[in-house]
Amino acid sequence: MSEDALYRFSFAAAPIRGQWVRLEGTLDALFAGRGYPAPVQSVLAEMLAAVSLAADGIKFRGAVALQARGPGPVTTILAECREQHLLRGLGRWQSDADLDAAGGDVMRLLGEGQMTLSLVSGTEAGADPTTYQGIVSLTNGSLAENLEAYFENSEQLPTRLLLAWDGARVTGLLLQRLPAAPNATEMALEQHGALWQEALVLADSLRAEELARWSVEDLLRRLFHEHALMVQPPRALSFSCTCSRERSATMLQALPKQEILELLEERGTIEVTCEICGARYDYDAFDTHALYAPPGTGVH
Ligand SMILES: [Zn+2]
Repeated sequence: MSEDALYRFSFAAAPIRGQWVRLEGTLDALFAGRGYPAPVQSVLAEMLAAVSLAADGIKFRGAVALQARGPGPVTTILAECREQHLLRGLGRWQSDADLDAAGGDVMRLLGEGQMTLSLVSGTEAGADPTTYQGIVSLTNGSLAENLEAYFENSEQLPTRLLLAWDGARVTGLLLQRLPAAPNATEMALEQHGALWQEALVLADSLRAEELARWSVEDLLRRLFHEHALMVQPPRALSFSCTCSRERSATMLQALPKQEILELLEERGTIEVTCEICGARYDYDAFDTHALYAPPGTGVH
């Protein structure tokens, strides 16, 4: 299995940066045993590639999450990248027939005109998290085009975003034209503009199956062989859930005690299954009553 990775590169002759990401093992881990229908896998995979790209550019430790809830066949969808390399995600859906009819059209899948992009900083222990939320308007069926417009508006930088899902892995390519140095000459600016236009033409010449199949080396060579590029060492990405026995206990404690005790009576054991990774936390009678023991007393 190839390692999931994100590469960053820049053009030597102009302030243009690029990012390339491919996820495969992360998706295997995320989809294993979850029964996600193909359209849910497709959107979730593209969203995970997108949050990986977005998280790579931020300058703080934290999380980037892209999510939507709507009245469509996909009722909830969430992709998150923490600490710029740990990924998780979740999709809920209600009708397989409607899912198939919607195909890969993100607006029809969600039945909703927007997604939320959140940046949460200060997720390290002891820090006070702050959240910034942006609204990604969905004006067409392509997630990549909607996100491209969002990045272009929110960062005020010309942007091209391509995403390709081939049923097993997802690949993303992002190009951005950065501001020129304040002392850049008129001629330099003209050259930067021409190179940006050329980079766009080259990126747009790429077919989805080429983006999905080519290695990053092949892609950069085939597209930009006439240009000097600086490529940084890759960042490894992987699936990681944040669930734990402690979190499942906190979740149970937040539910009405009477209901929990009735469920225990009926089943003998309470099972809490993580919806993201499928991990199961079992609570027998002893464990369940320990949830309600006054702090510090323990149960003997
Ligand atoms: Zn989990």
